[in-house]
Amino acid sequence: MTYSMSPSVKQRLSQPQRLLIDGHWLLASDGNVSDVYNPSSGEVIASAASATAADTELAVAAARRSFDERTWTGLTPAQRGKILWRIGDLLEQHGDEIAELEMLDAGKAFNGARHGEIPFAADCFRYYAGWCTKIEGSTKDLSTVPNQDFHIYTRREPIGVAALIVPWNGPLVQAAWKIAPALAAGCSCVVKPATQTPLSAVRLGELMIEAGVPAGVINILLGRGSSIGQLLAEHSKVDKVSFTGSTEVGKRIIDAAKGNLKKVSLELGGKSPVIIFEDANLKEAIAGAAQAIFSHAGQVCVAGSRLYVHENVYEQVVQGIADLAKNMTVGPATESGFDMGPLISKGHLNGVFQMVKAGQEEGARVAAGGRMIEGQGGYFMEPTVLADTNHAMSVVNEEIFGPVLVAMRFNDIEEVIAMANDSQYGLAASIWTQDISKAHKTAAAIKAGILWINCHAVPDMAVPFGGYKQSGWGRENGYEALLQYTELKSVIVKL
Ligand code: NAD
Repeated sequence: MTYSMSPSVKQRLSQPQRLLIDGHWLLASDGNVSDVYNPSSGEVIASAASATAADTELAVAAARRSFDERTWTGLTPAQRGKILWRIGDLLEQHGDEIAELEMLDAGKAFNGARHGEIPFAADCFRYYAGWCTKIEGSTKDLSTVPNQDFHIYTRREPIGVAALIVPWNGPLVQAAWKIAPALAAGCSCVVKPATQTPLSAVRLGELMIEAGVPAGVINILLGRGSSIGQLLAEHSKVDKVSFTGSTEVGKRIIDAAKGNLKKVSLELGGKSPVIIFEDANLKEAIAGAAQAIFSHAGQVCVAGSRLYVHENVYEQVVQGIADLAKNMTVGPATESGFDMGPLISKGHLNGVFQMVKAGQEEGARVAAGGRMIEGQGGYFMEPTVLADTNHAMSVVNEEIFGPVLVAMRFNDIEEVIAMANDSQYGLAASIWTQDISKAHKTAAAIKAGILWINCHAVPDMAVPFGGYKQSGWGRENGYEALLQYTELKSVIVKL
C-alpha cells in the first residue's frame, strides 16, 4: 500500500524541528538548520535546528537552575511518579503519530513501531514511575566506637544534571531508557538525540511538558554530536553523561568527562554471538538466528552478528538461514509487506557494503545476499550471510551494524566458548540447545551483559542491559539503571 502522510505529521514537518530550552521551543541562536532524511526514499522530509554552543550553555544552565532550585525534586515522589505515568499514557495516546515519525525518520516499519517501540517506551515511563516512591537508603550499625550510641543511615540522592546522548537506531526507546530513570531519580536532563533522527524526541519532549515535567527539568538539544554532544560531555555543570552509541565515540566521551570527573555510563557497540549446538531445535534456531541479525536491518546493538554452529549441523543451519535471507523482501518502511527496511543513510550503506567486500576478499563465501539494492532511492542492502569465516577476518572482529551474518563452525563447548569470547565486545549472546546443563554452563562462561537461551533480543524493562568489555560501562533498565542516576550518601550521627 502506498503511504500517504497524515495531516498532523505533514503540519509538524512543515516547520523546522525546534530545541526545547527551559520550557521554550526555540530555533538555533544562529538560525542554522540541518536536513532530516527519510532513509526509505533518500528524500529530505524536514529540517531541524542545529544547536550552537550558546544554545548548549542555555540548556545546561536551565537544567542546573531547575535542579539547584529543586523544581523537580521539590515535588513528592508520588507526584513525580504520576507525571512519568502520564508520559506513558500520552505516548500510547499519540502512538500512531509517533510510529509514523519513527517510520519516516529511522526507517522502522510502522506496525513494528506502533506495536513494539511505542508500547515499550510507554512501559519504560510506567516502570520508572513506580520506582519514584521506592528509592531508599538503609541503616547500619557502627562497630568502630564501643559503648556509644550512633544512628547511621544512607540516602540515595539524584546525581544532578544528566546529559543523555542517544543514537539513531532506536530514537524513541533509547531516549526513554535514559530519560525515565533519570527523571525518576530526580535529575534534570539535557537530551541530545542523534542528528539523523530528531523527530520522535521532539514529540516526546512536547508530551513530557504536557504531562507536567516542569520547565528546565527537560531540555532537548538537536544538532551535531561532535560539537554539542562533545560540549555536553565536557561541561563542568553537567554531573553525569549517559551515552549510547559507538565504542569509538564512547571513548571520546570518557576523555571529555575527565575535566570535572562527571559520572559516565556507556552503552556501546557489540558483535554478539549466536551459538547453535547440535541438539538444538534447528527449525527454531534457524528462524531465530535469521531474526537476530536481520531485524531492523541489523542496526541493533544486540544483533546476533556472529554465528557459531556445531560442525555436524553447520551446513544445514547456514543453508537454512541463507534460504530465509534469499526469500526476504526488502523495501521502503513506508510501504507495508516488506520483511526488511533501509539502512539509516547512504554513508552507512556504503560502509556496510565495503565491509562485505572486504570479507569476500579475505576469503568469506557469500551464502546469501552481498549486494546493495539500488534504484529505489533509499538505502537498501540485501540480507547477507557470509559463510566459512574465521577470527582473522575484519568482518568477524568489527561491528558492521547492518544485515550481515558471519558464520563459523565449532567442534565442542570449550572451543565455542573461547571463540565467542574472542572479541573486544561483550554485549549479548544467544545459546540454542535442548540440554539445560549445557545452556547454563555456556551462559556462565560467556563474557556478555545479557544472555538469551533459545531466543534472542527479548527485552524487558526490569532486566538490566549493558556490556562487558568494550561494549560499555554500567547498565540500562531495571533498578540498576536508576542507581546510575543517583549518588549514595552515608550519614553517621552520634546520639
Ligand atoms: P555514534 O557514536 O556515532 O553516535 C551516538 C550519539 O552520539 C549521537 O547522538 C551522536 O550525535 C553523538 N555523538 C557523536 N559524536 C559525539 C561526540 N564526540 N561527543 C558526544 N556525542 C557525540 O553512534 P550511532 O552511529 O548513532 O549509533 C550506532 C552505534 O551505537 C553502534 O555502534 C551500536 O552498537 C551502538 N548502540 C549501542 C546500544 C547499546 O545499548 N549498547 C544501543 C544502540 C546503539
